[in-house]
Amino acid sequence: MRKITDVRDFEGRIKRVLITEEQIKEEIKRVGKEIDKLYDGRPILLVSILKGAFVFMADLCRAVSVPCEIGFMCAKSYYQGTVSTGIVNITMDLEQDVKDYHVVIVEDIVDTGRTLNDVVKLLKARKPVSLHVVTLLDKPSRRVVDFTPDISLFTIPDHFVIGYGLDCGEFYRNLPYIAEYSEE
Ligand code: 5GP
Repeated sequence: MRKITDVRDFEGRIKRVLITEEQIKEEIKRVGKEIDKLYDGRPILLVSILKGAFVFMADLCRAVSVPCEIGFMCAKSYYQGTVSTGIVNITMDLEQDVKDYHVVIVEDIVDTGRTLNDVVKLLKARKPVSLHVVTLLDKPSRRVVDFTPDISLFTIPDHFVIGYGLDCGEFYRNLPYIAEYSEE
């Protein structure tokens, strides 16, 4: 991956907008209501997988009305450029003991499925009352492990995407939309 040299180079790599800010807002509203219905007034623990899901978490937690606590975990998937190496490391663990909680994992994107497969196994072993997975984006065509999120806001084709929390080389997380990335 080439290093970004200036703002023109930075902007030039935003190939096209795949999902607009408005589309994201609409879907989050809908999923917030779905979560409210699912838990029917029971308190939940929203667990965001850092760093990519921090923007989604900030919006999703404000779209639910059931009482909710917030937790963070850092799971790092190692990439060579835009290609997954398949190595997943939990670099920061959750501070809450999930034993007494209805846990909702909040993820940015499910690609090969390895990260969430590992995180779900780890959290299930700690015996939460229940556990569901919500992902903003799903790329089912890329799956290498058998993993299906409970709720997915958008299904996308096999493109490397940036924005709304998702990065390339730590840039682009602050874009308010999801875009396809291009090095050309
Ligand atoms: P998985 O373990 O499912 O292959 O990958 C999950 C993680 O890889 C995501 O949380 C995200 O950090 C990263 N990832 C996968 N696909 C993309 C993508 O298209 N764009 C970006 N920016 N990150 C991705």
